[in-house]
Amino acid sequence: MENNTNKTEFDVIIVGGGLVGASLACALASAAPKVELKIAVIENYAFDHEQQPSFDSRTVALSYSSREIFETLGLWSQIEKLGACAIEEIHVSDRGHMGLTHLRAHEQGSEALGYVVENQLLGKALYQRLSEYKNIYLFCPASVASFTTDKQLVEVKITEGDKEALLSTRLLVAADGGQSFVRQQADIKTRNLEYNQSAIITNIACDKPHNNIAYERFTDSGPLALLPLNDCEGISNRYSLVWTLKNEQVEKYLAMDDETFLAALQQRFGIRAGQFIKTAKRVSYPLELMRVKESVRQRLAIIGNAAHTLHPVAGQGFNLGLRDVASLAEVVIQARLQQEDFGELYCLQKYEAWRKRDLLQTSLSTDSLVRLFTTNFLPVVVARNMALLAMDMLPGMKINMGRQAMGFVGKVSRLARGLPLV
Ligand SMILES: Cc1cc2nc3c(=O)[nH]c(=O)nc-3n(C[C@H](O)[C@H](O)[C@H](O)COP(=O)(O)OP(=O)(O)OC[C@H]3O[C@@H](n4cnc5c(N)ncnc54)[C@H](O)[C@@H]3O)c2cc1C
Repeated sequence: MENNTNKTEFDVIIVGGGLVGASLACALASAAPKVELKIAVIENYAFDHEQQPSFDSRTVALSYSSREIFETLGLWSQIEKLGACAIEEIHVSDRGHMGLTHLRAHEQGSEALGYVVENQLLGKALYQRLSEYKNIYLFCPASVASFTTDKQLVEVKITEGDKEALLSTRLLVAADGGQSFVRQQADIKTRNLEYNQSAIITNIACDKPHNNIAYERFTDSGPLALLPLNDCEGISNRYSLVWTLKNEQVEKYLAMDDETFLAALQQRFGIRAGQFIKTAKRVSYPLELMRVKESVRQRLAIIGNAAHTLHPVAGQGFNLGLRDVASLAEVVIQARLQQEDFGELYCLQKYEAWRKRDLLQTSLSTDSLVRLFTTNFLPVVVARNMALLAMDMLPGMKINMGRQAMGFVGKVSRLARGLPLV
C-alpha cells in the first residue's frame, strides 16, 4: 500500500475505508496480477484511531457466506487467528411467552451458523492486508471536499489536513456510511424509517461457558442479543450484548452503575445463559431503516451503509454490505476482462440489478422481525409464538431460515462460492 503520492489518476476511488470500503479495496486488489487496477481509498480516520466509527467497540456477527468471501480473499485465517468465535446454535425466544426455537449448525450441514468478530480485530486484519498491496493508495486521514462527474471521468477534490489534492477516476464508490457525503452531494434520495429505538452495546462476562450458543430474545421494548465471544485478557465466558431499547429508556440504562445494569439485564434476559458477572463500557446507537432509491449512476456506485442501514436484530448490515462488495468487484473485474468501461452506467446497472433481490428481501425480513416482535397485540403474539414453535418442529422451514441467516440469498457471488474473481 502506498501512502499519499502525486499520482492522481485512479481506476477506482473508494470513499470510506471502514468495514465495507476496506473490504472492497482488498477484493478488487485480489484480482492482480491478472487484472491490476489502481485503487485509492480515502478515509477520515486511521483504523486504530479512537474515533474511527467503523472499527469501534462493536462486534459483528459474520454469516457463513461472509466467512467464505473472506476465505476466498485469503483473509479468513488472519481473522480467525485474531479471534473469531463460531456460533454453533442460535436460541430464539419471546420473553413472557412460550415461543422458542433453536437453529443448529449441524441441521444446516455446516460447522457454524456464523462467527462473532470484534470490529477492531476486523479492522486490523483488513488494514494489514491493504498494506500488502502495491496498487492500493491510502489517503488517510483525508476526506472528500467535492467532486464533479462527466461522461468519462470523476474529479475528486480531497483535503488532508491543510493540504488539498485533485484526483480523478473512472469509478467513484461511496462506502462512507449512513450519513454518506457522496450520496448527499449526488442528491440521491433515500427511504427512511425511524424505529424510535436505540441499541446499547457492551461486552458481558458470565459465570457459565457459552458453548458457542447465541441468544436472540424478543422483549416488548425490542430484541436483546447475546453473541458468544472468545476469551480475552484472562476474561472467559464472554458475550457481546446488543440490547435494543426505546429511545426514551436509553439514557437511564447508560447512566446505571455496572451492578444495577447487570441486574436489570438479568431480570430482562433470565438465567438461561447463567449469571452475568461483569460488563464493559456501554455505548448506544440510534436505529433506523434506510435504503437508497438509486444505488448507481454514471461513474458512481453506492455500497454498504451508504446504500442501506438496517436494524441490527438479525446481524445482517455488514453481511449485506460485504455481499455488495463481492458483487461489485465481480462486475468490475468481468467488465475489465471483456475490455468494457466498468464506470459506464449500463455496466453498473448489472450490479444494481443483481443486488436488488437480496437487498429487498434482507431489509424487509429484518424490518418484519422488529415489527412482529415489538407488538403486544394479542393475535400477533399468539401467531408469532405458534410460528416459533412450528419452526422447531418443521425442519424444512428452519433450513430456509438458516440459509438466509447464513447469507445465501439469490445469485451467489464467485467469492462466496470459493472462486477467485479471475
Ligand atoms: C449496534 C449495531 C450492531 C451491529 N451488529 C451487526 C452484526 O452483528 N452483523 C452485521 O452484519 N452488521 C451489524 N451491524 C451493521 C454494521 O455495523 C454496518 O453495516 C457496517 O458498519 C457498515 O460498514 P460501512 O463501511 O458501510 O460503513 P461505516 O461502518 O459507517 O464506515 C464508513 C467509513 O467511512 C468513513 N467516512 C465517512 N465519511 C467520510 C468522508 N467524507 N471522507 C472519508 N471517509 C469518510 C468513516 O470514517 C468510516 O470509516 C451493526 C450495527 C449496529 C449499529
